[in-house]
Amino acid sequence: MQALKKPSLTEDGLLFTESEPEPAIGHQDVKIRVEAASICGTDQSIYQITARPGMRDEMLVYNGGEVDKYQPIIIGHEFCGEVVEVGEDVAPGLVRVGDYVTSEMHISCGHCQQCRTGQRHICKNIRVKGVHMDGAFAEYVVVPSENVISLEKFGGRDVIPPRFGAFLDALGNAVHTVMEGDVAGKTVAVLGCGAQGLMATAVARALGATRIYITDFSNPQGGFDSVRLAGRFQTARELGADFCFDTNEDARPGQKKELLERVRDEHGGGIDVILEMSGAEAAYNDAGAMVKNGGQILLLGIPARPLRSFDFGKYAVWKGVTIRGIFGRRMFETWYAMLDLLASEKSHLRARLEKLISQERVPLSDFERGFEMVRSHEAVKLLLTP
Ligand SMILES: [Zn+2]
Ligand SMILES: [Zn+2]
Repeated sequence: MQALKKPSLTEDGLLFTESEPEPAIGHQDVKIRVEAASICGTDQSIYQITARPGMRDEMLVYNGGEVDKYQPIIIGHEFCGEVVEVGEDVAPGLVRVGDYVTSEMHISCGHCQQCRTGQRHICKNIRVKGVHMDGAFAEYVVVPSENVISLEKFGGRDVIPPRFGAFLDALGNAVHTVMEGDVAGKTVAVLGCGAQGLMATAVARALGATRIYITDFSNPQGGFDSVRLAGRFQTARELGADFCFDTNEDARPGQKKELLERVRDEHGGGIDVILEMSGAEAAYNDAGAMVKNGGQILLLGIPARPLRSFDFGKYAVWKGVTIRGIFGRRMFETWYAMLDLLASEKSHLRARLEKLISQERVPLSDFERGFEMVRSHEAVKLLLTP
């Protein structure tokens, strides 16, 4: 079958093959024919592995432990497709051949303390398909039956077509982050205008945030100049943002000062809930400066390397701020909430998210072009098809 693999952890790039054996199915597994998949930041990090030492180390945890013992895996974890085979021990009626499905790609152990106390999403033995083991950028993927999410129950293809089904994993991250912030009736700042920031904006709007700020840092050297950022901000407004600020002082002098002044005028003297969706070093200090006393900072973005500075005294202790990491999706509360929100016409979530999906579908064999479209910020959510 066709598959996109990470051949080596010492070099950038990926390898497309047409001669990958189809994955074997276990008694408790489900085999899915992938219909559409989507590229996310994690896949970009795997592509550019030499610049992401943290990602390289993560990929080695269950795979050799050292770069020269690494066995190439199929990457990709955002996808949807059709069930083609069901393992013989899967409970009857749970999932059927022909069902339109996606899957939670975080595989929890079911035995550790976290798993047994309602926190499977942060299982201490978590393995991620497409990072630690074979993923979904292929014609077929096999997943444990308990991880399968049937989209039939939420209206199937009519309500959640493959162009949405392909990135529910990513949308689930945004939904999880926003829900942990309990944003109804609160002011929200979203840091980062990438796919996660834009999705979080739409979700925060759907869940009743009062005023939504969104910030990003234009970076002309990185192909993300202020014109491109202005385009993203326009999209952010369409998704529900009220105020957009470029925090790059050189590109847009005075904007950061204006942002901080406006934020200080909010009732609590700052923002209730900050959603850090970028992983950019400068954003953490912006989060600390913008959050109100007693507010919350939720962290979904992953910095490329350890932060050089964050003023915990000024931005966390003296402000009595709660800082919290968000990982994956709650299994499976996030999925139910997300799919109901998407299926609800009146949430307007689907109509808003439509603006993030690229029209073009790129074949897996043409992955270089797809990755370049995302890297160059030409596309936000790009669909790959085997
Ligand atoms: Zn992802
Ligand atoms: Zn566990």
